[in-house]
Amino acid sequence: MSKQAAGEFTLIDLFLSHFPRARVPVGPGDDCAVLAPSKGAQCITTDAVVEDVHFKRAWYSPQDIGHKALAVNLSDLASMGAVPRWFVCALALPRDFPRRELSGIARGMSALAREHAIALVGGNFTSARELSITLTVAGELPPGTAPITRAGGRPGDVLYVSGTLGDARLGLQQLQSGLRRSAAILRQKRPIPKVALGRLAARFASAGLDLSDGLAQDLGHLCIASGVSAELELERLPLSRAVRASLAAEGALAGGEDYELLLAVPPARTSAFEKACLRGEEPITRIGRLTPGRPGLIRDASGRSLRLPAGFDHFRGGGRIDRSGR
Ligand SMILES: [Mg+2]
Repeated sequence: MSKQAAGEFTLIDLFLSHFPRARVPVGPGDDCAVLAPSKGAQCITTDAVVEDVHFKRAWYSPQDIGHKALAVNLSDLASMGAVPRWFVCALALPRDFPRRELSGIARGMSALAREHAIALVGGNFTSARELSITLTVAGELPPGTAPITRAGGRPGDVLYVSGTLGDARLGLQQLQSGLRRSAAILRQKRPIPKVALGRLAARFASAGLDLSDGLAQDLGHLCIASGVSAELELERLPLSRAVRASLAAEGALAGGEDYELLLAVPPARTSAFEKACLRGEEPITRIGRLTPGRPGLIRDASGRSLRLPAGFDHFRGGGRIDRSGR
């Protein structure tokens, strides 16, 4: 698109031009989108990324911001075992927001949307002091499949996490200290939602959720919802070399925004689950188990109660304001 042509586009048309046309009965441009769901149950969630709360424009490219806005929402669909289908996008833009940057946001979002075959079916633009992107995403559970909720865990279920923990927190610390490029920074800016693992896990897991607030807090949420305690084997936590060297297990426990999955699997299904993950090339690590006892209490393998670290500090001093979509 030439610069001259860009002047003829409204912001909406410019944004939409980066996405494939949605194959739905009524797509963007009318008052509502009209969808044709299949027979499975629907999963719906919403989450926002806000300038200076979840990202800084000096540190994140427009593509990073667009990617992250969709990734955090896809991660919630992943955690329930849902297949991504549709989303709507509400953008709040500062006045005179550069069109080039708006295109960048659309490109980052569109690339991830294509990867997961999720269609943009509508949205809204408004002006605001800070840039923020609020997405509502919908996915479907294959007919006959139950969702993975936080409440289904039972004492004895084995706990697994995907990938490695703490990298996104380390990435944020590195950005704050002036570093601009590293594997951990990439994890902070471009989280990868574990959609395929979630779909696979729906056949085996009794409970689960995605790790947005850090393992300690998110395991606490699962335990309270399931009415159980947990025992963690700290030495088993999967840590990258960089996280092992700088944050160690305690730092990784408190590190938010990894968007890995935490899953509880009944003992009778662990061996089939591990085999399925191996076949699907989904790295998972056994990190402990659910136990009877006070809901939410988490102990290490020697029985010592783990003091839960406070919520992670997003952009030092500000805290993370938005707590929805956990
Ligand atoms: Mg979540």
